[in-house]
Amino acid sequence: MIEKLAVSSMRLARHHTLIFHRVLNEQDPMSPDEPTAEWFRTLAGWLARRFEVISLAEAVRRAGNHGLRGPTVSITFDDGYADNFLVALPILEEFALPATFFVASGFIDGGRMWNDSIIETVRRLQPGNYSLEDLSPTSFEISDWASRRHLANTAITAWKHLPPQERQGKVDGFSALVDDLPIDLMMSKAQLRLLAESRLSTVGGHTRTHPILAALPDNAARDEIESGKRDLEEWLQREITLFAYPNGKLGRDYLRGHAEFVKEAGFRAAVATDWGTMDAATDLFAIPRFTPWHTNLPRFAVDMARCHFGLI
Ligand SMILES: [Zn+2]
Repeated sequence: MIEKLAVSSMRLARHHTLIFHRVLNEQDPMSPDEPTAEWFRTLAGWLARRFEVISLAEAVRRAGNHGLRGPTVSITFDDGYADNFLVALPILEEFALPATFFVASGFIDGGRMWNDSIIETVRRLQPGNYSLEDLSPTSFEISDWASRRHLANTAITAWKHLPPQERQGKVDGFSALVDDLPIDLMMSKAQLRLLAESRLSTVGGHTRTHPILAALPDNAARDEIESGKRDLEEWLQREITLFAYPNGKLGRDYLRGHAEFVKEAGFRAAVATDWGTMDAATDLFAIPRFTPWHTNLPRFAVDMARCHFGLI
C-alpha cells in the first residue's frame, strides 16, 4: 500500500537512475549491507511491475528529445564486479530489465580494488591482537565479525583520501599479513564479453584505475578517462558512449573540467553519484543517481519518491 502510494505520487516526467555495485549470492558478514540475490530479485520484480525500466542510453536519448515520460527507471552497476555477470545478470534477464555496467578496465582479469584488498585481508586474519602503526588507534583485537568490520572500516576511512600510490603502498603492506587474496572479485575479460553480448546490457567507461579525478593533474585525469574507454572498446569491439565518474560527487570527486574531458573523449553522457533524478533540463554530463539502501520495499519506495521530489 505504502509503496503503491509512493509510486503513484511520482507522475512528473522524471527519470530515476539507480546505482548498484555488487549483488552477492548470500549475505557477507564483512559487508552485511550489500544487496543479496534474494533482495535484488524482489526489487527487480517490483521495478518491473511498477515502472517502465529503460536503458540509460534510452533515457539519455529521451532527455535529449524532450521525450521523458516519467517516472522511468534505469539500473546501473559501477566498477565491474564478477557478481554483476554471475548473480545480477541472470536476475535482470529473468525480468527482462536492461542495465548499464560501468567498468574500471584496469581491474579486469584478476585485479582488485584497494578497499576490497583491505576487506579480504581482514576477512582472512587469524584471531588475535594486531598492532598496526599506520592506523589510529594502532591496536586491534580480531575476534568476531564486528571486530573485523571495525578494522576494515578504520583502514578504509584512514587511507581513502591518500594519493593513490601512497595508499596502494599502505594497502600492499597490510595485505602481506595474509596469503591468497582472491583474484576473481572483478570480471574476467571472458565474463565481460559475455555480459556485453546480452541484449539487455550496456557497458560504460569508469576510467582505468578508478582514481578520484579531482586529485589528479589534468593530463593524468584525461588519460584515465580515455584509456579506460580504449581498453573496453578494444576488448568488446564496440563504441563505449556512457561514462561514470569514480566516486562521482561533483566538486569533490570530479570537477566541471572533467566533464569536458569526458565529452572530448567521445562519450555522450556521464553519470555522477549526486542524489537526484533526471528531467529534460538535466546536464547529460552530470546525471544524478540514487539508490535507497533499504531491503524492504515500502521504505525503498518512499525514499525513491522523496528523491523524486527533491526531498532527499
Ligand atoms: Zn566506482
